[in-house]
Amino acid sequence: MKLILLGAPGAGKGTVAKLLTKIDGSVQISTGDILRNAVAAGTELGKQAQTAMNAGDLVSDDLIMGIMEQRLQEDDCKSGYLLDGFPRTIPQAKALKALLEKMGETLDAAVEIDVARDVILDRLTTRRTCSDCGEIYNIKSNPAKVDGVCDKCGGAVVQRDDETIEAISNRLNVYNEQTAPLVGFYQAEDLLLSVDATSSEAVISAIQAKIC
Ligand code: ADP
Ligand code: ZN
Repeated sequence: MKLILLGAPGAGKGTVAKLLTKIDGSVQISTGDILRNAVAAGTELGKQAQTAMNAGDLVSDDLIMGIMEQRLQEDDCKSGYLLDGFPRTIPQAKALKALLEKMGETLDAAVEIDVARDVILDRLTTRRTCSDCGEIYNIKSNPAKVDGVCDKCGGAVVQRDDETIEAISNRLNVYNEQTAPLVGFYQAEDLLLSVDATSSEAVISAIQAKIC
């Protein structure tokens, strides 16, 4: 399947994407993970993205489109993809549309995962992430077996640099201002599937009911 996962930071896009990859072999493409890896590796891309990311601002549309144009042409995308954190602005959505037309591809749906703001704030402040493999933990609901150590790869489980209260509240504002308008965009494209995200499983069922 070819899906866009829309939703505020902490809505569960990554969790839903990971579950979906197991269903039909689609790949998860997270622009946040790609950028964090670039920052960790100290590449030119990482240097360009780091300041905006740490403040909870978006990196430029041009930078993101450069990454995604390449990524979507890689071989593993032939079995489908789950776009997690992209597109995030109207210009990105328009550029993606043009790119897919050029590639002769169509999306199955843009899934809006809707979660109440207080739930999101609680999730983001308690979220921890493996700095090596990106595995997500939560100090309240899903802690690592050994504090600070990833169950999967042994990497350091840390709080992301953009998960301070200031950066989180900025990310939520940025979402409302720049990304929420994509809901209307995809509604007009007749691709929108809005799901009230009581649980990741409920989101998966709604997606399967729509496109399988
Ligand atoms: P979130 O938990 O906020 O959904 P992500 O891991 O998707 O976090 O993204 C982390 C940061 O990476 C964003 O705050 C932003 O700085 C940058 N980023 C990721 N995807 C995009 C994008 N499509 N456009 C612009 N910036 C992006
Ligand atoms: Zn790990």
